[in-house]
Amino acid sequence: RAKKEGRGIYRIYSPEMGSNMRRYHYLLEEMRVALDTNSFTLSFQPIINVDGSAISYFEALVRWHHPAEGSIAPSEFIPIAEDSNLILKLGDWILDEACRQMAAWYNAGMSKTRISVNLSGVQLKHRSLYQWVMASLNKIGLPPSSLMLEITESSFIDLSDNTVDELNKLRNEGIIIAIDDFGTGFSSLSLLANLPVDVLKIDKLFVSQATKNTKYNKIIQSIADLSKQLDLKVVAEGIEDIEQLELLKSLGIVYIQGYLISRPQTSAHVGDKVLKQSVSHLSMTGTGVWPP
Ligand code: C2E
Ligand code: MG
Ligand code: MG
Ligand code: MG
Repeated sequence: RAKKEGRGIYRIYSPEMGSNMRRYHYLLEEMRVALDTNSFTLSFQPIINVDGSAISYFEALVRWHHPAEGSIAPSEFIPIAEDSNLILKLGDWILDEACRQMAAWYNAGMSKTRISVNLSGVQLKHRSLYQWVMASLNKIGLPPSSLMLEITESSFIDLSDNTVDELNKLRNEGIIIAIDDFGTGFSSLSLLANLPVDVLKIDKLFVSQATKNTKYNKIIQSIADLSKQLDLKVVAEGIEDIEQLELLKSLGIVYIQGYLISRPQTSAHVGDKVLKQSVSHLSMTGTGVWPP
């Protein structure tokens, strides 16, 4: 790191820097071990129609329970994995595992829902995205219409022409593309007109502010209105209480995700719950409101 800052620039060493560096290298090494020992898992969080009628899809979220450290948050280890390119190997595992789980659900009757996988910017740059995703689907036997990909707004900003082409090919197969953490990345609105996008996921920051600050409230409403005009779907993430839910509903938001509805859960828990409920509440298997 320090070397990159160029000749003649010296940083004063602080003990904190040393311990941050140690933690970084420790986690990097431990992630390699975790990959080799198959120690990562996925959790799944439902995204539902705001009227409660249907589960639209599940977001796959990676989890790491370290034998000595306990749970380590993705917000701590994903950036380290991205920085070191280990994200490519971890990302391979995440996509395969998410597709495997979705295929099992599909075969068990949850065929109208989707699995959504987060992709990091590094993964968009270093691969033939189309080949990579299709190979995983084909290997596992999952139809592309069961997959959605989430790309953060900040990665969306500097997509290469090649990546845009790859995303278009994936979309033509029936895969849905979402911009994640929308509203935090300062993208220009023309991106929405020109890039392959189906869904905007409004960042939870906006949701948490909406009931306290009318400006956030109005931003959400404009995003909902704009999306309607552009034929995009909108998901609001991070709904934690009824007040937020009611407000979002009144602002025209249709799809919601958050602790109020469900925390991310293990696959066993999801499968159990949804498949059982599908007997008495058909709508919970997905009524076809999603995808269009
Ligand atoms: P994200 O993609 O925006 O995922 C949503 C995050 O919000 C998840 O955190 C989820 O647990 C959390 N969340 C959901 N509902 C609520 C709520 O009501 N309140 C609050 N406070 N939080 C809520 P998580 O799992 O810790 O993941 C954090 C971020 O790490 C993700 O944000 C994503 O950027 C990244 N990440 C997680 N899993 C993966 C993965 O498999 N691959 C990649 N590349 N990134 C991942
Ligand atoms: Mg996401
Ligand atoms: Mg998000
Ligand atoms: Mg987020």
